[in-house]
Amino acid sequence: MDARLAADLTGLPDLLTAARDYAAEVLDGLPSRPAAAPVPDFAPTPLPAGGAGAAGALQLFRQRWAPGFSGSAGPRYLGFVTGGATPAALVGDWLTGTFDQNAVTRQDSSAVDLERETVGWLRSLFGLGDAHTGTFVTGATMSNTVGLAIGREWLGERLGVDVARQGVAALGDVVVLSGAPHSSVYKALSMLGIGRDRLRTVPLLAGREAVDPAALEAALAALGGRPAIVVANAGTVNTVDFDDLRAIAALRERHPFWLHVDAAFGAFAALSREHAHLVAGLDLADSVCVDLHKWLNVPYDAAVQFTRRRDLQVAVFQNSAAYLTAPAGDPDLFHLTPENSRRLRALAAWFALAAYGAAGHREIVTRNIAAAHRLGERLAAVPGVRLLSPVRLNVVCFTVDRDVPALLDAVARSGAAFLTPTVHHGVPAVRAAFANWRTRESDADRVADLLSELLT
Ligand SMILES: *Cc1c(COP(=O)(O)O)cnc(C)c1O
Repeated sequence: MDARLAADLTGLPDLLTAARDYAAEVLDGLPSRPAAAPVPDFAPTPLPAGGAGAAGALQLFRQRWAPGFSGSAGPRYLGFVTGGATPAALVGDWLTGTFDQNAVTRQDSSAVDLERETVGWLRSLFGLGDAHTGTFVTGATMSNTVGLAIGREWLGERLGVDVARQGVAALGDVVVLSGAPHSSVYKALSMLGIGRDRLRTVPLLAGREAVDPAALEAALAALGGRPAIVVANAGTVNTVDFDDLRAIAALRERHPFWLHVDAAFGAFAALSREHAHLVAGLDLADSVCVDLHKWLNVPYDAAVQFTRRRDLQVAVFQNSAAYLTAPAGDPDLFHLTPENSRRLRALAAWFALAAYGAAGHREIVTRNIAAAHRLGERLAAVPGVRLLSPVRLNVVCFTVDRDVPALLDAVARSGAAFLTPTVHHGVPAVRAAFANWRTRESDADRVADLLSELLT
């Protein structure tokens, strides 16, 4: 055994203590760490011929890399839709690496059953019934990709084509309809060989980011009975608008389509009694995407993909030779997602849910919603700020009477917060998205104070 490696084996408990102490120090300083770090110049060093040992590597990391890392796990990083990691989720994540299970089969470990239990818990959290099975993937982009891959297989079933064997070309032109899809849906269509240009956007309700159900029905009717894929959006990133899922699902009585719902963070509206109506009908979807590294506050990378058609999922992703019969019953997990070997990413979610339950996560969600409303109310009173939509859930979308990139740059340089830009109905705008378990109303006030200071 390499001498450094042997020494690390002997000193493992001390090493873990050192890492623990350092992690505690980092987390303790998180509220005061700059939300966005100034990124130093990058000068890669050559591969070390002989290593420094784990303690040496930790030292190197602390000196060279940690100063350039952002405070994105902290309370005022409001860019994109960014969660942090609750204490229990972090413990679960540490133990994921500690046990290093390849969570694919029940032959040698109960890890797969832990994932199944976690999926069941998530199903009840979001009000999904038993007809939905679920699988862990790396993020919402992968969840959308897997859901749309199952939808692609379903089109084949309707048209008498075996897409998994014959390829997507055998389907002819595929039609995908959506109101205000997330960029990752286009990426998924590119990866799936359907093509980005096959997505036809459907008119939205006036002043909204929710699809107009009548326009969707007209677009479906124009297909003359040809099956299609509809991507419904439950929580758009700009203004957190929700398609009317029940109205869309009801269109299946007259038109054949696969209903995929991108509920990456919007699914968490189900946890708030006042907002659960926004995702009414989620259970009617054929496939559902929910991100977990956003509002469940587990570390990257975790999302779940739910579907009612596990048989078609197996048809797409089975890892056995095409001439063998498809896996039946509860298939090993490498028959269900793009990965074969995979980490037990369910463990962090399992810890979070075991530790805080539905009530604890409801509290995070309602507190984040309250913080968004607080910021919205404060900003509405700042001269030169205009809200571009009412605060529906956890995002404040607003524009300012000056250069948006310059303002965001000043916000980032302050270290106190991080916000990201967008364009909403042609207007350059700013988004402040609340999804971190640490964020309090006082953080919303601090961001409001900062913005009014910079704008006056
Ligand atoms: C974040 C997000 C995605 C993509 O999620 P990743 O985890 O970054 O892959 C997809 N859809 C919506 C609505 C999102 O908010």
